[in-house]
Amino acid sequence: MKQCDILVVGGGIGGLSAAISLTRAGHSVTVIEKDPSWSVYGVGIIQQSNVVRAMDQLGVLDAFLDAASGFDAVEIFIPDGTKVARVPTPALVEGKPANVGIGRQALQKVLGDTAQELGATIRLGVTAQAIADTPEGVTVTFADGSEARYDFVVGCDGVYSQTRQMILPEAEKPVFTGQSVWRYNLPRPADMDALQVYNGRTGIGLVPMSADLMYMFVTTHEPDNPRYPREGLAAAMRAKLEGTAPQIRALAEQITDDEGVVYRPLEGHFLYGPWSKGKVVLLGDAVHATTPHLGQGAGMAIEDALVLAEEVGRADTPEEAFEAYRTRRFERCRYIVESSLAICNGQIGKGPPVDNQKATAEMFAVVAEPI
Ligand SMILES: Cc1cc2nc3c(=O)[nH]c(=O)nc-3n(C[C@H](O)[C@H](O)[C@H](O)COP(=O)(O)OP(=O)(O)OC[C@H]3O[C@@H](n4cnc5c(N)ncnc54)[C@H](O)[C@@H]3O)c2cc1C
Repeated sequence: MKQCDILVVGGGIGGLSAAISLTRAGHSVTVIEKDPSWSVYGVGIIQQSNVVRAMDQLGVLDAFLDAASGFDAVEIFIPDGTKVARVPTPALVEGKPANVGIGRQALQKVLGDTAQELGATIRLGVTAQAIADTPEGVTVTFADGSEARYDFVVGCDGVYSQTRQMILPEAEKPVFTGQSVWRYNLPRPADMDALQVYNGRTGIGLVPMSADLMYMFVTTHEPDNPRYPREGLAAAMRAKLEGTAPQIRALAEQITDDEGVVYRPLEGHFLYGPWSKGKVVLLGDAVHATTPHLGQGAGMAIEDALVLAEEVGRADTPEEAFEAYRTRRFERCRYIVESSLAICNGQIGKGPPVDNQKATAEMFAVVAEPI
């Protein structure tokens, strides 16, 4: 298919990646984003070797690396703070870092700026109220009552996807895992040159994000899914770090700003059935929201966007493209969602413990395979 008019619902990582891959392929893309201020919370994200390769394929690698902080190893610590391993991670783009940490806002800027430079239209504060799939195309009614017709629609509206609810109301829904994540930005020590992971009942990671900044993530068992009020959030996070390694307890002293704590209950889901209906397809967290234990959720969304654009280019109809896209993506995304959840369940006693180091090495081998 050539020169299609495409609506992308959701201006997050997956939607912007889709806007880039589809505009590069010669299509006309409009992105609608429900958040009028297009805000992104201020901590970072791990982007591993396959994402560095995907950014190269998206044509944004230089801008991406300029905004990120590269690292070529993962260091493993046991709960008493002893470093037990330094695992080198293979680079998939020659001469570039294997993995990076990047601020979420910086990542959105790279993707958003590129999508707009390539000609994608981004409409903020807009949602789709109705989607009618007709033989002539997909007619979308926006919340303000206006209408437009597209050749096809890509739903990239995240874990609670309204698009999914419209086209596949019976599909799997996100389920709370029993675990939550706490994140906080901290100054990066001068000698830190790797992602640092502390194993134990409370999982902890330190991720380099820029020359002078890193973020800490902490996974905790929260069986009753409590609500933590904003006021007191820093003290609550510090309390979760009591009894952890001495170097982590020292860092915890710097967690003092309630506004700087990003707390999030972890949910996941995977669509084992269809990923599309007619001329409407889903991508990213809308179809496979993973827990972050392998740091691959956004990576899967970005790869989805590349594969979707390739299959649209090969196919004669959207339906044919969407089937080929799902076939190429299904096993890899299923593996990431299920393996990440197994680590989560092992940590909170809902399943057998998983050897994190082994699981991470296996993940690197799987995602190194071409998309
Ligand atoms: C705690 C945590 C840590 C994580 N860490 C990592 C990591 O280190 N590495 C990694 O690769 N992944 C990580 N992930 C996963 C990653 O954040 C997601 O997989 C990724 O953001 C998915 O992108 P998306 O575009 O599908 O969805 P989102 O990023 O959720 O974007 C969806 C967008 O759609 C918009 N939207 C929603 N509804 C509508 C609507 N009705 N109409 C229009 N717009 C709408 C939203 O405002 C949003 O902008 C983590 C996830 C969590 C929860």
